Amino acid sequence: LSDADLAPAIDALTSASSVTVLCHLQPDADTIGSGLALAIALDRRNVPVQVSFAEPAILPDSLQTLPGGDFLVAPDEVADEVDLLVTVDCGSVGRLGRLRDRLDGARRTVVVDHHRSNTCFGEINVVDAAAESTASVIARLLDLMGAEIDKDVAHCLYAGLVTDTGSFRWVRPGTHALAERLLETGIDGGRIARALLDTHPFGWLPMLSRVLGSAELVQECAQGRGLVYAVVERSDVGDLRSEEVESVIDIVRTTSDAEVAAVFKEMPDGDATDGPLWSVSLRSKDSVDVSAVAAQLGGGGHRFAAGYTTRGPIAELVSALTDALD
Ligand code: 5GP
Ligand code: MN
Ligand code: MN
Repeated sequence: LSDADLAPAIDALTSASSVTVLCHLQPDADTIGSGLALAIALDRRNVPVQVSFAEPAILPDSLQTLPGGDFLVAPDEVADEVDLLVTVDCGSVGRLGRLRDRLDGARRTVVVDHHRSNTCFGEINVVDAAAESTASVIARLLDLMGAEIDKDVAHCLYAGLVTDTGSFRWVRPGTHALAERLLETGIDGGRIARALLDTHPFGWLPMLSRVLGSAELVQECAQGRGLVYAVVERSDVGDLRSEEVESVIDIVRTTSDAEVAAVFKEMPDGDATDGPLWSVSLRSKDSVDVSAVAAQLGGGGHRFAAGYTTRGPIAELVSALTDALD
C-alpha cells in the first residue's frame, strides 16, 4: 500500500469528533495493542475514544499490562452512535461478534487489518496483506497523522509486532527496523515478550502433557505431506484460563513429519445443542495455504496461520479438515 492509499483513512482519523475502536473476539496482543495505541494517539488530540471487544468478558491477564487500558469499555458501554468506527485486526464482521451492529451506528467506518482474507467491510479499508501485524499498519497511520510514537504507544505496537511475527520468526524487510524504532523509545522488549508469550501457571505443564500425549499424525493427508493435530477438551483445561490453550499450536506445529498442524480447542459454551463449539487453529510450513482451507471451513486468516470456528463431534471435524486439505 502506498501513502496515497492511506489518505482517506488519515482524513477520517484526523477529522473525527468521536471514535470507537473495535478489536476481535478472543483478543490477542495484535488487536488490543493496535487498538490501544490508536486510542492513546487519538486521546492526545482530545478526541473522545472507546476501545472494546465482544468476548470474553475480561481481558486475558497477559494483555492487562498494556498501556491505555483505561480506554477499554465493556461491550454494553460501547456508544450506539459514533462519528468514526475503526476495526483493528478483524478480517470479517464475524470477528466483531455481537458488536457488529455498531457498524450501523457509525457515520464513517475504517477497517485496519493485515489478513489476506479480509472482506473489506468498511467504508474505508486499509488492508495490507504484506504487513506482519496490524500494529505495523497502525504505526504507519500514526506517522501519517503526525502522532508521536512515544513509549506507551511503542509498548502497545511492540506487543502486536512480537506476537504476530512469532517472536520475529515471520519477518520481512522492515520488520526489524520497526522493532528498532519502537525499542529506541526505551521500552523493555524482553519483558514485554515474556509477559505475552512466556508466562504460564504451573497447571499449564500437566495440561500440555495430556494434550500433546494424545496428538495424532495423519501422514496420508495434504497431498501426502501430512497433518498433525491435537485436541484440547474442556476437561483438559480444568481451572486454567482459556488463553493458556493458545500456546499449544506453537509446539504442535514444530512436528517435522507434517506440513500442516491443527489444534482443536473446545470453547466454553452454554448452549451446546448442536454439539460442542470448537475454535480451530491451523498452521502450515510453506506449501499449503491454510487461509484458503480455513475459508472453506468458515474462517480465515493468513497463508501460514489461520483458523475457524465450528460445532460438532471431534471425529467429524477431523474428517472435514482432512477432506478440505486434499
Ligand atoms: P489463532 O490460531 O492464533 O487463533 O489464529 C490464527 C489466525 O487465524 C489469526 O490471524 C486469526 O485472525 C485467524 N482466525 C482464527 N480463528 C478464526 C475464526 O474463527 N474465524 C476467522 N475468520 N479467522 C480466524
Ligand atoms: Mn489477531
Ligand atoms: Mn494480527
